[in-house]
Amino acid sequence: MKLYNTLTKKVEEFVPNEVGCVKMYTCGPTVYHYAHIGNLRTYIFEDILEKGLSFLGYNVKRAMNITDVGHLTSDGDTGEDKMAKGAKREGKTVYEIADFYTEAFFKDMADLNIRKPSIVEKASDHIDTYIKMIEKMLKDDYAYISNGNVYFDISKAKDYYKLSGKNPEDLKIGVRDTVEEDKFKRNPADFVLWFTLSKFENQAMKWDSPWGVGYPGWHIECSGIASLTLGEYLDIHCGGVDNIFPHHTNEIAQSEAYFGHKWCNYWCHGAHLNDSTGKMSKSKGEFLTLSLLKDKGYSPLDYRYFCLNSHYRSSLVFSYESLDGARNALLKLKSRILAIKKIGELDSDKRSIYMDKFALAIGNDLNTSLMLTVLYDLLKDEDVNGTTKLNLIAEFDKVLSLDLLKEEKKEVSSDLEKEILSKIEERKEAKKNKDFVKADAIRDELLAKGVRLIDTREGTSYELV
Ligand code: AMP
Ligand code: ZN
Repeated sequence: MKLYNTLTKKVEEFVPNEVGCVKMYTCGPTVYHYAHIGNLRTYIFEDILEKGLSFLGYNVKRAMNITDVGHLTSDGDTGEDKMAKGAKREGKTVYEIADFYTEAFFKDMADLNIRKPSIVEKASDHIDTYIKMIEKMLKDDYAYISNGNVYFDISKAKDYYKLSGKNPEDLKIGVRDTVEEDKFKRNPADFVLWFTLSKFENQAMKWDSPWGVGYPGWHIECSGIASLTLGEYLDIHCGGVDNIFPHHTNEIAQSEAYFGHKWCNYWCHGAHLNDSTGKMSKSKGEFLTLSLLKDKGYSPLDYRYFCLNSHYRSSLVFSYESLDGARNALLKLKSRILAIKKIGELDSDKRSIYMDKFALAIGNDLNTSLMLTVLYDLLKDEDVNGTTKLNLIAEFDKVLSLDLLKEEKKEVSSDLEKEILSKIEERKEAKKNKDFVKADAIRDELLAKGVRLIDTREGTSYELV
């Protein structure tokens, strides 16, 4: 298995610490709002990585946190608490907000066929762990107390900028220009491990600590939960590219200060999904959620297929036109697969050739579009019988998770139904006016959306194909 490692900036052979086992940590959502489909792209990439490793025979232990405290509106230490902001927006308590959006997140994950990690921990459940880690960092002089807050001193960390490759000089200018400087820090990039003072009064989640009543910083939560659930050594840590700095950089600084040795060997980051205006965000215009796509008549798996067509390290621009393309391609792919008959004996030679090809695509830095190419090559290979094809498709779908063999009764969303009925009327009118070109164009337009019109003596009905 070859993977691109952000730490070394190279595609490297993946060698876990323990033969055959992988300890994988993936940063979870901040549950103050619905996930946008950009966030979900990152979780799809992590799901494919976990399932790809399992396909290759590894036993994967994967943990994820749920951030319900400590994440401010900037990824550093400035701005309002995201959870408090969500609570204010909806007139609810932070606990209600956290429960509601955690459930919504896992519903999205299930709709996208993303496997729930075997370990999921809420940040607010492990305050003792963070306190223990911070106490040790204070004792070992990696941390200091200033004006009530506990800070990590980045000048004590070994090669603090090794993950991001950032230039500290450039960052200094950035800090001076754009962010209100915290004069209680020794270095501008020092970050908070424990807050007792917040510029915002409405922080509801607070706990007693040796440094006063307060709450943990966002970064310590991941170091704490990862060490609690996976131990001192991690094989893979994932997230989106925006997590590289400062979040993952700070996770490394804290964990290595705490353990006194290298912590995680492979850092894998998914590129962003952007909209036509640039980076996707929850505060900008139409907020793209999975529910919105469903309301517009798309299946969550259309979106999964859309993501799988490009490499996780390439940024991707979302448009409804490309999603239409993905939906049509998936529809055709499934109808080809469902037409395959179970004929002949399982051909183990052919099976292992294709299993190897698929494994190579996984091992090629998780090349999902190549995995799909192997699938398409299999479909058109006339030397492989139906039984073998169906067996292989079932194996590939353990990674792709597109429900390739599932025959489902599709439901039409109310928006799509309205559109179909109005198009049927428009076509009837066109036919009445002998405008057969227009009538045929309407029929083809609907077919491209997976809707086949059926003309009968009683009128026109439709079926989903
Ligand atoms: P958050 O809930 O904001 O902590 O983000 C959850 C995950 O989504 C993190 O791993 C982020 O790196 C990732 N993420 C944020 N924005 C995008 C985006 N536009 N495209 C892909 N992933 C993203
Ligand atoms: Zn994290």
